Amino acid sequence: MTESIDLKVKPDFIGHYKNHYPLINKDAVMNPGALAEEGALVHLVDGQGNFLGKGYHGKQNKGLGWVLSFNEKEKIDAVFFKNKILTAINKRQSYYKDEHTTAFRLFNGEGDGIGGLTIDYFDGYYLLSWYSEGIYSFRDKVIRVLDELGDYKGIYEKKRFDTKGQYIDDDDFVKGERGEFPILIKENGMNYAVYLNDGAMVGIFLDQREVRKAIRDQYAKDKHVLNTFSYTGAFSVAASLGGAVKTTSVDLAKRSKSKTIEQFSVNGIDFEQQDIIVMDVFDYFKYAKRKELKFDLVVLDPPSFARSKKHTFSTAKNYPDLIKDTLAILEKNGIIVASTNNASFGMKKFKGFLDKGFKDMKVKYKILEEYSLPSDFQVDRNFNQGNYLKVVILQKIN
Ligand code: SAH
Repeated sequence: MTESIDLKVKPDFIGHYKNHYPLINKDAVMNPGALAEEGALVHLVDGQGNFLGKGYHGKQNKGLGWVLSFNEKEKIDAVFFKNKILTAINKRQSYYKDEHTTAFRLFNGEGDGIGGLTIDYFDGYYLLSWYSEGIYSFRDKVIRVLDELGDYKGIYEKKRFDTKGQYIDDDDFVKGERGEFPILIKENGMNYAVYLNDGAMVGIFLDQREVRKAIRDQYAKDKHVLNTFSYTGAFSVAASLGGAVKTTSVDLAKRSKSKTIEQFSVNGIDFEQQDIIVMDVFDYFKYAKRKELKFDLVVLDPPSFARSKKHTFSTAKNYPDLIKDTLAILEKNGIIVASTNNASFGMKKFKGFLDKGFKDMKVKYKILEEYSLPSDFQVDRNFNQGNYLKVVILQKIN
């Protein structure tokens, strides 16, 4: 039998675990000092030593680890990992069958029963992301499952945890074919260039798939589109393919320009007909206002926190300002696609920020549509923070 460490849960938190809350919160445990090595199996118990859940120790943000099972008899072994991954794959059958979409999230952490691990599928390649040293200790078991399934091109991984300042001198390659990057994936018939060997961000955020489709199919035709915080310009590509007159992509990162040119090019779009601007978005708003530029459709997709030389932006504090800046350059009946991935607030609060922006400017609007995570980003219904994506599409009235 594997040794496991008993973690005593504070009285206030016992109800959470009885309701199958999956995160082993720092504040929930009376004896965190009992924890030593990451990857160790732990049992959550109440004051009388009664079983509440079992999981592993792995430090991740506010967590000390994740509960993997609320069933005292269930073993956390190779079979456990295999069953979770096979169940996740079964849930994604519609994605496997869709010839127009060749990239999706195959395994979404606690949403699929194992917090701290995600697996993305990119046209035959698996990308594993490990969010703690603890989950990384189960690496061999996870890779063995993928090996047994066979039929893949290659496996890459990202270690998204602090490796004590040590530089990890590898290119994230695990096994199989290395492949030639970029590989081209398809998403609802659009092409995107993806790099699995070049840092944490691969070129596309798969969770915005449905929003890109909506922009292409419903909102872009004959429009002048401004895409702020544009990264590789994925929304601009969708807009252009949807018949936008012109797109303007703005991002601070120098690399965004060549990356955006590449995404247009792999879709046969002449990038010289588009504007790709390396600039602080907040400076761009001032510039556009001064030049009296106007846009019919503006995409706002800022990171939760951003610090540039001149500005600090936090979605929780500054989203209303972002709306105000946008309204100053929005055409009559213009549309805003407002997005945030900040997990610290929910949809209701987000809509409050948007409403405040409009009210402060005394502008009327209506909400056309709302989006959250697509179904491949499975969410644990007992863990709201996992349901982080919020997208609201609004139209200015007049
Ligand atoms: N909307 C993108 C993802 C955005 S990621 C997509 O759908 O693919 C966030 C981006 O914001 C990063 O590329 C980063 O370089 C950029 N960024 C952060 N702060 C910025 C600022 N002040 N002005 C412009 N871009 C900024």
